[in-house]
Amino acid sequence: MKDIKQHIENLRKELRQHNYNYYVLDNATISDYEFDIKLKELQELEAKHPEFFDANSPTQRVGGEVTKNFETIVHEHRMYSLDNSYSKEDLLDWEKRIKKIVEGDIQYTCELKYDGASISLTYEEGKLVKAVTRGDGFQGDNVTANIRTIKSVPLQLKGDYPPKFDIRGEIVLPFEGFKKMNEERIEIGEEPYRNPRNTASGSLKLQDSAEVAKRPLECLLYNLTGTNLGVKSQFEGLEKARQWGFKVPHAAKLAQSIDEVFAFIDYWNDERHKLPYETDGVVIKVNSLQQQEELGYTAKAPRWAMAYKFKAEQVSTKLNSITYQVGRTGAITPVANLEPVELAGTTVKRASLHNADQIEKLDVRVGDEVYVEKGGEIIPKILGVDLTKRTVDSKPTEYITQCPECHTALVRQEGEAQHYCPNYNGCKPQIIGRIQHFISRKAMDIEGLGGETVALLVNEGLISNFSDLYELTKDQVIPLERMAEKSADNLIKGIEQSKKIPFERVLYALGIRYVGETVAKKLAKHYKSIDAIAKASEEDLVNVDEIGNKIAESVVAFFSSLENIIIINRLKQFGLLLELSEDELIGQTDKLKGDTVVVTGVFETISRNELKKLIENNGGKVSSSISSKTTYIVAGKNMGPSKKEKAETLGVAIISEYDFLQKIE
Ligand code: AMP
Ligand code: ZN
Repeated sequence: MKDIKQHIENLRKELRQHNYNYYVLDNATISDYEFDIKLKELQELEAKHPEFFDANSPTQRVGGEVTKNFETIVHEHRMYSLDNSYSKEDLLDWEKRIKKIVEGDIQYTCELKYDGASISLTYEEGKLVKAVTRGDGFQGDNVTANIRTIKSVPLQLKGDYPPKFDIRGEIVLPFEGFKKMNEERIEIGEEPYRNPRNTASGSLKLQDSAEVAKRPLECLLYNLTGTNLGVKSQFEGLEKARQWGFKVPHAAKLAQSIDEVFAFIDYWNDERHKLPYETDGVVIKVNSLQQQEELGYTAKAPRWAMAYKFKAEQVSTKLNSITYQVGRTGAITPVANLEPVELAGTTVKRASLHNADQIEKLDVRVGDEVYVEKGGEIIPKILGVDLTKRTVDSKPTEYITQCPECHTALVRQEGEAQHYCPNYNGCKPQIIGRIQHFISRKAMDIEGLGGETVALLVNEGLISNFSDLYELTKDQVIPLERMAEKSADNLIKGIEQSKKIPFERVLYALGIRYVGETVAKKLAKHYKSIDAIAKASEEDLVNVDEIGNKIAESVVAFFSSLENIIIINRLKQFGLLLELSEDELIGQTDKLKGDTVVVTGVFETISRNELKKLIENNGGKVSSSISSKTTYIVAGKNMGPSKKEKAETLGVAIISEYDFLQKIE
């Protein structure tokens, strides 16, 4: 028995090494035939001895597990996005900004920006235990069964890996494999896939992992995440990851200065066309992890990294017509309908024209031949007009003066680019849009209710604002198109469940202009109840961290509308959470109210992030640079000399972590 177990282990080890040679090093040392024979032997042994099953055995690469609904998993460390830059000036600005925060020389790791689907892999004791998509950055889908089938993802690591860590990377579909997949599809009479990137991300969500196994996907890694990783820099992290068996592209380079970063960009701007997979830019990361930690994060992205986007491809095509869309805020967006054209691997049919000024500035006219570019955004943009192709009878575009949906005269406020339909309560797309926003995933996340059903409910006169949702009955919705008994049940249940959604998300769901997720969080935390927010004046509001005039004005306007107050009172009656719950109030004090605190150095008993959280929970504000507004600095070990000097010049007190903890005791 022991022998069999040993034999199985040996076979696994051998096959693992061959996989690694072939898929990570691109250097096979046995023939496919020999490999298949060994794999078959292992499969048979495993079938006979299910007691030795191992989810990370090379046999599991062929897939077979079917997932109907992917489980949602909260990321232990948030998956941020990256800030973008488009020129060397942008990068110089970035360098200036970060040099204000960190001291000493900065080295940069330069990497290519792979264009695929991002993934977070978790390893424990050297084994892959979890693979989660990025999702909204806070939580994603558990796609482990699918990721296991990707041969360049190691299922068992080698060398001196840490006991537990996450590693982030990109799942890409190399051009060659993509082409082959499409040839096969065309042969069986199916539509070819549009581009490698969408196909890669679509593959991760296939229900049958055996299907995923057939796709020539690759996983390229770029970031170690976690604590006690035993590395001090990004570049070292990449090298280590490579030693543990991950596929980390060799393009990555350590730059000693921003000029060396520029050289890297110039080189890859041309050279990237020879790569086997798609790239859309370069990612530049501050190399030292200590410096990274000092720089921290904005609401969306690390301050220590910057993406540089390569210039996008351009084509020209005919502008067939301009149509106008009405958003949930009443904002009008002009859309260019184009003669379909191939651009960077996708067919482009529409482009955004942004607003009246943009149309005027470009002087675009129906019938024109226009230049279209596809940058990072989903909807491509129009760059200009080929005037040599303009006909003599062409007339300047006249912007609409009435709402295309409700025919109300449009208004445009001083200093605003957008036209608005002011018919807040009577314009269908606005009514529908507001309710769609209310039920959306980041807001009330009402399961069983989709955007189309909302439109149907409004059009049937069953609801006219989101508070009406809570009075809907099953009998009312069953007669709706495509609504069965079960889906009606689910809808009502989903609405009922949304009553448990925390206050900050209800606040976001209300759709107050300029109040996004982050602002809603800040307001909820600061005021603790909707009543307190409703009573706040503009002056009051701008005193809250990160709340500016524009937001304050919009909040006050929202709560001065009688209709909104009526809706909110109804939501209260229905039992929605319109104040922080008991749990959320625990640990919240006003002890540091009015204090602006800078955190610097390395701490002994607490992490930098925990410290920041404590400051915020006690009503203080965290700032990243020392100024005359700083109340005091909490300093750990290794506080930089120039920071110290600055603090002394400005007469700002420096206290230790222990002093600080005592303060908030
Ligand atoms: P964006 O989605 O434009 O905010 O860009 C951020 C994404 O770039 C990340 O989520 C990654 O999926 C992707 N990415 C590709 N290559 C890299 C890289 N070398 N380092 C960091 N992120 C990368
Ligand atoms: Zn309207």
